[in-house]
Amino acid sequence: MKENIRTLTKEELKEKIVEYGEKPFRAGQIYDWLHVKLARSLDDMSNVSKALKASLAEDYHCDGLKIVEVQTSAIDGTKKFLFGLPDGNVIESVWMKYKSWDSVCISSQVGCKMGCKFCASTLDGCVRSLTAGEMLDEVYTIQKYTGERVSNIVVMGSGEPMDNYDNIVKFVRMISNEDGLHISQRNITVSTCGLVPQMYKLAEEKLEITLALSLHAPNDEKRKALMPIANKYSLKEVIAACKNYFEKTGRRLTFEYALVAGNNDSDKDAAELAELIKGINAHVNLIPVNPIKECNFKRSDMGAVNRFKNKLEKMRINVTIRREMGSDIDGACGQLRRKHMEESSGC
Ligand code: SF4
Repeated sequence: MKENIRTLTKEELKEKIVEYGEKPFRAGQIYDWLHVKLARSLDDMSNVSKALKASLAEDYHCDGLKIVEVQTSAIDGTKKFLFGLPDGNVIESVWMKYKSWDSVCISSQVGCKMGCKFCASTLDGCVRSLTAGEMLDEVYTIQKYTGERVSNIVVMGSGEPMDNYDNIVKFVRMISNEDGLHISQRNITVSTCGLVPQMYKLAEEKLEITLALSLHAPNDEKRKALMPIANKYSLKEVIAACKNYFEKTGRRLTFEYALVAGNNDSDKDAAELAELIKGINAHVNLIPVNPIKECNFKRSDMGAVNRFKNKLEKMRINVTIRREMGSDIDGACGQLRRKHMEESSGC
C-alpha cells in the first residue's frame, strides 16, 4: 500500500523531488499545500506541474481521512469523529471547544495493547500504530471540518503513544514546525501509561511538550489490578522517570487519575497519592471513570470526587477535576469505534 504523503518531512519531500529530477524549491510549495492549505488531493495544487504530480502519485497517496461519523454534543458542542483509514480500519478523534481555544484529542494507534481494565480501546488489542501523516491528518481534517484553528492537541485517544514512539516524535515536530500548522509544543500533551524507557528517551528529545502520566492508583498493588503495565514497571521506577522528565525539560507533569468507586477513591488513597507525588512539580487531573459496558467499574459520585480533591489540596497538591465534555455522546475513549465495529460485524 502506498504511503500517506503527509508523513514526509519537508527535507524528505525535497530529497524525493530531486530524485524525480525537479527543482528542490518545489518541495516548499507542495509542503505548503499539504500542511498549511490542508489540501486533500494532489489536484488541488494549482502551481505544481502535472508531471510532478504524476510522479508523486506513483509513490504516495494524498487521500485524507474519510469521515465515517460525527457525533455532536447538544450540551457543549464537542464533536466526536470516527475516521476511516485507507486500509479499512477506523479511529476516533475528539474536538472540544473552550471559551478562547479549541483542543483536539487524537488517537495514536488503532486499538491498544496495554490492557487497562477500564478502557474500551484495548478490548480488541492493537491492530497497528498510526503514521505521523495519519495523526497529522486527524488534526487537519478536524480543522477543515470545523473551520476553526486548532490551538491545543492532546494525544490521549486510543493507543499508547510511547508504544509508537518514533511516529509520535515526528508528529510533534511536524505539527509544531513553522512550515506547517505551527502549533506551539507547549500546547501539546502526550500521555503514557508509564513506559519507563521511552519516558527517559522523550526527556532527551528537546521538546517542550507536556507529559501526562496515567497514574490511576496510589500504590503498586492497586495499580496492577487496573493496569497490566504496572507488572512491568513499579511506581518507584515510573515516578523516577517523571522526575527526570521535569529535570531535563523544565515542563510540569500532569498525573491523570481516573476515580473508580470503592476502588481508588478513599481518603486513604488520596493520602497515599499525595505522599507518592509530593515535591514533584505536577498537576493532578481527577477524572470520574467513564463506565463501559464490558467491565463493571462504577464512577465515583461527585461527593467522593470532591472529597478526594479536598484531601489532596489539604496536602498541598495541585489538583483539578477534569471538566467533562460531550457527556451525552459516546464519551469514553474507544466506545464509538467499538460500536461501529460491532455494527459492521452484525454483533
Ligand atoms: S487507557 Fe490508554 S494505554 Fe490504557 S488501554 Fe486505554 S488507550 Fe491503552
